[in-house]
Amino acid sequence: MAELPDARTSLVGRTAEGDEAWLIRGIAQKLYRCPGCHGEIEIGARHVVVQFVRRVGGTDHHHWHEACAAELLVPELRGVRRVSATRSKRDRLEARGRRSPRRRPAP
Ligand SMILES: [Zn+2]
Repeated sequence: MAELPDARTSLVGRTAEGDEAWLIRGIAQKLYRCPGCHGEIEIGARHVVVQFVRRVGGTDHHHWHEACAAELLVPELRGVRRVSATRSKRDRLEARGRRSPRRRPAP
């Protein structure tokens, strides 16, 4: 199985389009639908939150099953590496998405 985020560390890589993809461990607070298999992620389930910081600016996120993220999402990303989970807090990434890509430091 590919690498997955855990409570202390997140993963960051880039999509083919050049967007940043931050993979963060989540615990489902409500029912989510996984974009990988279209199945439900049950409340309380550990899963992967993928937060995109778009190259053109802005952010959005999706909730994935761990297995689906490992099989379908992670292999599509480039340069995936592990970073401290404190770097991938939601407000921090949203602030990143408001910066011009040129002035944004490398993730
Ligand atoms: Zn799934």
